[in-house]
Amino acid sequence: MINSIRGFNDILPPETSIWQHIEKEAREIFEAYGFSEIRVPIVEKTGLFSRSIGETTDIVEKEMYTFEDRHGEAITLRPEGTAPVVRAYIEHKIYGNDPVAKFYYLGPMFRYERPQKGRFRQFHQIGAEVFGIDDPKADAETLEMLVCLFQKLGLEGITLQINSLGCKECRPLYKEKLLSFLQDKKSQLCHDCQRRFEINPLRTLDCKSPGCIEITAHAPSILDAVCDGCKTHFEKVKEYLALSQVDFSLNQKMVRGLDYYIRTTFEITALGLGSQNAVAAGGRYDGLVKSLDGPDTPGFGFAIGMERLVMLAKDRGQQLAVSNQPLVFIAILGDKAEKEAVGLIKRIRTSGIRLERDYSSKSIKSQMKRADKLGARYVLILGDDELSSCSIIIKNMQSGEQEKVALDRVEDRMKELLRKSASIKINLDIL
Ligand code: ATP
Ligand code: MG
Repeated sequence: MINSIRGFNDILPPETSIWQHIEKEAREIFEAYGFSEIRVPIVEKTGLFSRSIGETTDIVEKEMYTFEDRHGEAITLRPEGTAPVVRAYIEHKIYGNDPVAKFYYLGPMFRYERPQKGRFRQFHQIGAEVFGIDDPKADAETLEMLVCLFQKLGLEGITLQINSLGCKECRPLYKEKLLSFLQDKKSQLCHDCQRRFEINPLRTLDCKSPGCIEITAHAPSILDAVCDGCKTHFEKVKEYLALSQVDFSLNQKMVRGLDYYIRTTFEITALGLGSQNAVAAGGRYDGLVKSLDGPDTPGFGFAIGMERLVMLAKDRGQQLAVSNQPLVFIAILGDKAEKEAVGLIKRIRTSGIRLERDYSSKSIKSQMKRADKLGARYVLILGDDELSSCSIIIKNMQSGEQEKVALDRVEDRMKELLRKSASIKINLDIL
């Protein structure tokens, strides 16, 4: 038997209902904030990621799925969505109409990581990118939108942490400061932090190894070191977050694992996810479009980890109204009814009612049993008797009540009945 690849998951019904629900809410909110969906390929030239994410990042050093295609070109399964969206923004000269463009995307990402709770090799992100606005109001508003989505999904125990990473002017100065602080402690740092010491010492700040955490506890703060421009920007972000009533806390040690971020960076963490507790992250990337040979365009974006979001929804055991329609089953008896049913079933389904049937000519008893097993709300019964009077029986599976209606009134009557019983709730505990 051939199994799926380690770290690559199937998402089965009814869990797919939660995915659809989250996706629908996200689309609705993002569209309301002026974002439009963009769909970019799953595979890109390797250089796109190594140049943008940074050669010394975990993603580029050890997590990318890179292959040679049949012509020997290095291609990579996208580990994140920002670089491809930036590539598309430049390639299609989207800035030509108006430098301001707002996109959202959803889809799979691929990273060769050790699979564990909340960490997979194929995972899904919903992300958004804002191009062409360097104003801190864009940072705050995009965060407001993200937090609104979490609130609309009814998730609790969510914390927004923000930091500023400075810009290309002031970050090198902070890097020097940090290097001199760490210099005499270098030998006590973990292996990874020692290796990337000179190139990327900031990573030491959010290293999870206990030794590094202890050493960096008294490291100089980046927020004290950034230039006036970055300070003002950060102050404005905080001011506007407060105006939009978005709660946040400062985390001066958060540096993020991608090199392109400058100024505002953030992470949203949630209780109950264990050590993989980040559900969303992102920040400002003003130099990125230019570094990929586009015009000098500022940018701000985030990505939400879908699997972790779905886990949160499930862990809370909350009731989630899903848009899945209640099921109607049709039990058919006899050859004549079997043929007559074809057109009828087509009519009912194309009118938007969710209808299932049996394909073998089983007894009424076994068809009713199957309807029950599938959780059908109503069963339509069509036999030769009903046919001869151009009617059909509708049975309510909960109350057991039955009624007979004319064949040409089935859709209307079913719609009436289904409207009464509105949307169903699924209890996430059972998933
Ligand atoms: P982490 O610190 O958990 O490795 P990250 O900083 O690598 O996260 P980002 O690149 O910022 O993550 O991606 C944004 C979000 O995507 C994360 O907050 C997380 O929810 C999700 N995510 C990242 N990597 C994975 C993965 N391997 N499996 C599942 N979700 C992931
Ligand atoms: Mg990671």
